[in-house]
Amino acid sequence: MSTIAFIGLGNMGYPMSKNLLKAGYNVIGFDLVAENCNRLVSVGGQTAASIADAVAVADIVISMVPTGKHVRAVYEGPDGVLQHARPGTLLIDSSTIDVENSRAVSQAAEAAGFVMVDAPVSGAVPAAEAGTLVFMVGGTKEAFDRVVPTLTCMGTSLVHVGAAGCGQAMKICNNMMAGMSMVALSEALTLAERLGLDYQTVYDVVTKGSGNCWALQAYCPVPGPVPASPANRDYAAGFSMAMMLKDMLLSQSAAADVSTSTPTAASAAALYQKAVDNGYAAKDFSFIFNLVSGRTGV
Ligand code: NAD
Repeated sequence: MSTIAFIGLGNMGYPMSKNLLKAGYNVIGFDLVAENCNRLVSVGGQTAASIADAVAVADIVISMVPTGKHVRAVYEGPDGVLQHARPGTLLIDSSTIDVENSRAVSQAAEAAGFVMVDAPVSGAVPAAEAGTLVFMVGGTKEAFDRVVPTLTCMGTSLVHVGAAGCGQAMKICNNMMAGMSMVALSEALTLAERLGLDYQTVYDVVTKGSGNCWALQAYCPVPGPVPASPANRDYAAGFSMAMMLKDMLLSQSAAADVSTSTPTAASAAALYQKAVDNGYAAKDFSFIFNLVSGRTGV
């Protein structure tokens, strides 16, 4: 079976790499945090002392790191993938980053003779654990066909959305909608409560009505209606406020790049910024309900 070098074994990378092990791949992981490397070893993976060592024996490289700056370092740094991967190694970046950096890394990979795709995911940690992620893949059709067997071990929906960078563009638009939905939902729940409705009734009707959305069904921001939602565990993330702010800001800089006005997203981004500025970065993004409804005093 092929060997995969998995760079970035955090909240998402660890469960994703576990599913690759389950599917029979040899997985050699690398993370800057030793504890994250150790937990991969505890489930049957191997770790390397550096990115260079991990990719030197790999057929496929997958990266899952926080931002564009991290992705550029992983691929273009002196110890990085492009310097040390073997010719023919397939490169997959699943991090959520800005389109500009994604396209720049892709071009550098192509110039170095590699085939690369950007393949960000939707679905968060539970879907990473269950192997039911949605992959939005940017790259050539040939590259997409080559990554399908590997991505299928971690996801159930794989869509080729366009050329290099288009995976990131798709992901940014998707998360912009999710971020706005949560704010819209928070406003509606606040109003509903003040008009005398209880949350369970709102949930029961809206999930069958035209206001239904993923934010309500999976991340309902009030305790009760959705037992698995972070609101029932003091808003432990889940998908953190800091991550949502990052994605909302990516949407705003992408919108500016193509001279597109997105006032509703801008206003939602400002709210997530306020939450982070007031110390709620680590809370789940659904905690925004508490700011919208005035419960935090912020
Ligand atoms: P995380 O912070 O839990 O994990 C990122 C890991 O990358 C960390 O363990 C960090 O040590 C490691 N890292 C950073 N630079 C590195 C380097 N140079 N070499 C090796 N390791 C390095 O973040 P996460 O939640 O796993 O998210 C990763 C990416 O996936 C982000 O871009 C995020 O936006 C995206 N994403 C996250 C979720 C989610 O629900 N958490 C959902 C979809 C997409």
